[in-house]
Amino acid sequence: MAIKLFDSLKREIRELTPSHPDGVFRFYNCGPTVYAPAHIGNFRTFVINDVLRRLLELELGQDKVKHVRNLTDVDDRTIGQSKKEGHPLGQITKKWTDQFHEDCAALNCLRPHVEPTATGHIPEQVNMIEVLMKKGNAYRAPDGSVYFKIASFPEYGALSRIKERELKVTNSAFDADHKDDVGDFALWKAYKPEDDGDVQWPGPQGASAGRPGWHIECSAMIKKHLGETIDLHTGGVDLLFPHHENEIAQSQCCNGTTFAHHWYHSEHLLVDGTTMSKSKGNYYTLGDLVAKGYSPMAVRYALLMGHPRKQLNFTLDSLHAAESALTSLRAFRATLPATGGDPNVFAAEFEALNNDLNTPAALGALFTVVNTKGLVVNAAAFDRVMFALGLDLNAVAAKADAPAAVTVLADKRWAAKQAKDFATADALRKELTAAGWSMLDRKDGYSLEPSKKN
Ligand code: AMP
Ligand code: ZN
Repeated sequence: MAIKLFDSLKREIRELTPSHPDGVFRFYNCGPTVYAPAHIGNFRTFVINDVLRRLLELELGQDKVKHVRNLTDVDDRTIGQSKKEGHPLGQITKKWTDQFHEDCAALNCLRPHVEPTATGHIPEQVNMIEVLMKKGNAYRAPDGSVYFKIASFPEYGALSRIKERELKVTNSAFDADHKDDVGDFALWKAYKPEDDGDVQWPGPQGASAGRPGWHIECSAMIKKHLGETIDLHTGGVDLLFPHHENEIAQSQCCNGTTFAHHWYHSEHLLVDGTTMSKSKGNYYTLGDLVAKGYSPMAVRYALLMGHPRKQLNFTLDSLHAAESALTSLRAFRATLPATGGDPNVFAAEFEALNNDLNTPAALGALFTVVNTKGLVVNAAAFDRVMFALGLDLNAVAAKADAPAAVTVLADKRWAAKQAKDFATADALRKELTAAGWSMLDRKDGYSLEPSKKN
């Protein structure tokens, strides 16, 4: 069954197919900016892309998908954070890259096949900028920066339909920026000691030393690791403009060929009706939720409860619902025979996923199967659905199995420990032991395990 997905450029639901003769599907997902912890809004996007990767593997074969996701490790935000903390850029970005990897693993996201960094691809970016300058698509500004000239690319705006509409800003705004046209964007930023600290590289020929603009990194890393034409390019909806519009302009002008056959943008996670974002400060990290006693798998499940192309409002109630859904799934899995049953019992789940990634419909269909008495389902068929959704039921077992009264005691003990009220914490541990549960403390939360007599 083919996978169908909305294409943000062509604005219709289309089949995903590998376009290269080797049959390998080339998939690029814009990755995180590593200057702070990724929040669960960011992870909504990465989890949705992980389900897409899993569906592609099921459809085409594990060795027929090449998934690349970058790390943005040099830009205004990463440099700003390094200056604020007074630590080298590489130290800041390593810390948040490690945290990102830890969170991805806890959320059961498959690792991309290649995870390139912007700082690891400076020559590739410089090279593309030089080609764009030679072809007349880019120009040097008086300060030694290089800008892309959007007037040189008539298709500019096709993805976002932004063209004239939003590019109207007062003249003074762009004169100050040395641009010929307000829509022109930086490919290379000349070094400014007051902003950039010690972050600089030799520039393209004819330009000053400095650093790449944000957009060119993805164009250069895609070209290097996936080639000039890819099959699918994805990201959160905020990347559609200007980031992806600019990527198309750079890559198509440099390479002279179609950049991506399919574009997909997932919608944002909201809190109280507004987008979860680092700048607004209204966010939860995975660590925040684990510290409240929720399992990472419940977070993953909750992120899949809304249609990826619709905004999803995040609530702690949705995590409670996710924890109990996972408990039911685990209990159901324990009853399944290894063989027998109807091989097509999960057809509706795959139909939903393969039809524009309808994860809530797939979860609904799954519970219809779970709740239908007398249906014979074999374990392998069920595990295939769990693989597609990336739900690792073993990872949630102990905590999810604890009765509510035990969880309440555990939450109280955790809070007491955080407040350094060790006497209360010890007393609560005794109560838990008496109830047949032991509590394992970790850096960012706890888990519950039944003790032997339980
Ligand atoms: P960043 O680390 O800011 O570069 O963002 C990484 C990814 O998270 C991008 O694909 C963004 O579009 C996406 N993103 C940012 N905020 C949200 C949100 N509130 N909900 C879902 N995705 C988001
Ligand atoms: Zn990108």
